[in-house]
Amino acid sequence: MSQVVLDNVTKVYPGGFLAVDRMNLRAEDGELLVLLGPSGCGKSTLLRMIAGLEDITDGDLWLGGKIANHLAPRDRDVAMVFQNGALYPHRTVRGNLSFPLEIAKADPQMVRDRVVELSKALHIDETLDRRPGTLSGGQRQRVAMGRAIVRQPSLFLMDEPLSNLDAGMRTELRMEISSLVRALGVTTIYVTHDQIEALTLADRIAIMNRGVLQDIGTPAQVYNDPATAFTAAFLSSQQLNLLAATVRTPQNQFIMLDFGTHQITMPWTDPRAYAVSQHTGSQIIVGIRPDALAPMPEGMEGPMFMGRVRTLEYHGHEWLAYVECGIPAVAVPEPPDPRFRAANGGANGSKTRSMMRRLFNSDIEAD
Ligand code: ATP
Repeated sequence: MSQVVLDNVTKVYPGGFLAVDRMNLRAEDGELLVLLGPSGCGKSTLLRMIAGLEDITDGDLWLGGKIANHLAPRDRDVAMVFQNGALYPHRTVRGNLSFPLEIAKADPQMVRDRVVELSKALHIDETLDRRPGTLSGGQRQRVAMGRAIVRQPSLFLMDEPLSNLDAGMRTELRMEISSLVRALGVTTIYVTHDQIEALTLADRIAIMNRGVLQDIGTPAQVYNDPATAFTAAFLSSQQLNLLAATVRTPQNQFIMLDFGTHQITMPWTDPRAYAVSQHTGSQIIVGIRPDALAPMPEGMEGPMFMGRVRTLEYHGHEWLAYVECGIPAVAVPEPPDPRFRAANGGANGSKTRSMMRRLFNSDIEAD
């Protein structure tokens, strides 16, 4: 039983800085919960309070059904993996892996067997007699992971364990963490500021900003139905279009989102229609991901924004076009129409008119 419950947990650092503000959070037994948020939002502080490395200013922490605010770190049955690996430099890999078991006075033969077995699972069996200083970053993080896993704690706490690695190694280790943690069935709280890491690893994601919980849910829930504009923007790998619109419901026949220069209708059959209609007469913020928009060939009918290409941006796997259409520039994937490029590279930049079909998909359906 290794459930973690935070009940109104607050952290104020000496000097008065409020780093975590009345956080309510629950990680279920065996769950991989990812804490996601920008740098400085309080993720590490929260993790360190759970580990017992930082005092809790207010509120309660429950570990495995017992209040743990004042429990010493060594009595929490928690293993933590840090960004930099934090290995014992004078011990070999074998020595680092076996240390937690030696401390626990485990049977020496069992320790030897367990270390060999684990080093094979983590693909570091050929480094067992080397010191950490001679290892690559990826190998060091594997040893750090192994040292956390070796004595099978009730709870893993991982603080950006992949952030010092290159992109290829991050992907490889991310997959291994996912399968290892799930195979062991140990509750894990994993901190990152990388939305892809969060979306790919998590059972559930808790999103924080400025010490406050913004949203919590499965990756699909927080991605497709974000509770706040912050969550929507933070989870979008592309620049999110956040547009102000006034809600109108003419004769109650349909809902109209009035962007000023553009109006878009939304049928009552849309699952969000009722919630949106509650704001009739007021302004709301509509979030549209660029990939929910598509360029529309000239002559096609349908709801659209019409505008001029202001600039094109290369993103490696795709281009984004920023289109000036009377509202803040809208980002869309690069249209195949070569006139878009001509407009961007041309002498006066924005002469070509372009049309875009609005394909709200899961955002707001207006057709
Ligand atoms: P990062 O991803 O950059 O590590 P984080 O989300 O983990 O950021 P924390 O390290 O928890 O954020 O820090 C949260 C806030 O608390 C930051 O503004 C930080 O400057 C502040 N802070 C952290 N430790 C202390 C301390 N010992 N004394 C005062 N303020 C601190």
